[in-house]
Amino acid sequence: MTKNVRVRFAPSPTGPLHIGGVRTALFNYLFAKRHNGTFVLRIEDTDQNRYVEGAEQYIIDALNWCGFPFDEGPNINEKFGPYRQSERKHLYKQYADELIASGNAYYAFDTAEELDKHRKEHEANGKTFIYNWHNRLKLNNSLSLSAEEVQSKIAAGEDYVIRFKSPQDETLHLKDIIRGDIKIDTNILDDKVLFKSDGMPTYHLANIVDDHLMEISHVIRGEEWLPSLALHILLYRAFKWEAPEFAHLPLILKPTGKGKLSKRDGDKLGFPVFPLQWKSQEGDISRGYKEDGYFPEAVVNFLAFLGWNPGTEQELFSLEELVEAFNLNKVNKAGARFDPDKTKWFNHHYMQEQDNLKLAEAFKNNQEELTTIDINYIEMVVSLIKERATFINDFWGLSHFFFTSPSNYDEKAFKKAIKDDTAEILTKVKSIITHIDDFTVNALQTDIKGWITDNNIGFGKIMMPLRLALVGALQGPDVFEIMFLIGKNETVKRIDNLIEKI
Ligand code: GLU
Repeated sequence: MTKNVRVRFAPSPTGPLHIGGVRTALFNYLFAKRHNGTFVLRIEDTDQNRYVEGAEQYIIDALNWCGFPFDEGPNINEKFGPYRQSERKHLYKQYADELIASGNAYYAFDTAEELDKHRKEHEANGKTFIYNWHNRLKLNNSLSLSAEEVQSKIAAGEDYVIRFKSPQDETLHLKDIIRGDIKIDTNILDDKVLFKSDGMPTYHLANIVDDHLMEISHVIRGEEWLPSLALHILLYRAFKWEAPEFAHLPLILKPTGKGKLSKRDGDKLGFPVFPLQWKSQEGDISRGYKEDGYFPEAVVNFLAFLGWNPGTEQELFSLEELVEAFNLNKVNKAGARFDPDKTKWFNHHYMQEQDNLKLAEAFKNNQEELTTIDINYIEMVVSLIKERATFINDFWGLSHFFFTSPSNYDEKAFKKAIKDDTAEILTKVKSIITHIDDFTVNALQTDIKGWITDNNIGFGKIMMPLRLALVGALQGPDVFEIMFLIGKNETVKRIDNLIEKI
């Protein structure tokens, strides 16, 4: 790649960022880093009606939490700033005027009511109203009116929009890195509005002007923007600017069935579709991966596999490894099916890689019962149970018996573990334990296992009731580890409790 790679993530701050948006940001980041390029964040907030307070900060927080912050953007390396389109308002009109001067755009005075009437008339005949070459000379615009009429309308302060004049009878040959060559017949294009009567550019104009001014080399965005590609290429041509290269990422599909992954799918099946929790102005809370206990490494890893794969069996990738392996040519055209179980699988994996002390701190902060417990003890417990955990929230269920004595015994387990001679056997085991001075896992193992072998008793006959006494159920990590951690007195006490219950 010879040119300087500059890519941008250009979200509109209309609410929380869907994980599809995070995936777009990630692919931009990976591509930028792969080619020693720059990852730009641009906030596309020209649509005042859809602006949502707090959404911009949410986007920035989400990128930071995921671990791939932007290199350039609002308040960061503002080389091509400002990066909020609302702060660039003054810039766009001249470009719309330039297109009018070069004959590529025109003023349109049609009122909302007039357009609505056309639409309804078409609908009544089973047709769709498209404003373009086939009817523009019959509509209320500077192509159909005389120069004087146009001037007097503008001088009188009449509302107008500026529309792009799409070419007629041409076949466009578009290129997309992921989709290859695409042919478009320009006759199907409508004359999109570039500049609105409220003095703001539309997405199309602002997006192209900014990509040009910010020297964007590659546009990597979601498939929903593919239908705009022809217009965008025509705009570059009209401005006589070199167009960036384009890559349209595949849709993220529902776990089952047809269609795009939506918040409703998440609500129904119990998983978040947002990176961070979001509280709407009405007070509704949408779950976030962060608050649900996912590690950012897991989120990055599962997002990377939504539409991309390395072409090998490897599934686990750190962000650095993704940067090394990422290639836009390996991104699929077909929609990527979202698999909530796989996200858990990734989280379980990254749980094992976390630092035990950090996990212990998070566990302690989460769990009231641990307020007074020594952090080193919690850390040891965590090291024993984390292989069974997917989330920190699983910890208490897997480890409460390290902190509190069982208050009851699982009924099924009790029936399975307790036989006629169990009380007697437990009393013996208790006496062995009481006599161990050097209370270590090793000593416990040697003495108890030795006694089992010497007396030729079935292993389960002892280990099951012992586990039941310590845990209250037939689950948990190694019995000897549990005894060692809770200590001799507590072990003896718990055995006594069970004997009493029998
Ligand atoms: N503002 C658009 C969005 O919200 C950007 C599309 C693009 O990347 O061109 O997705």
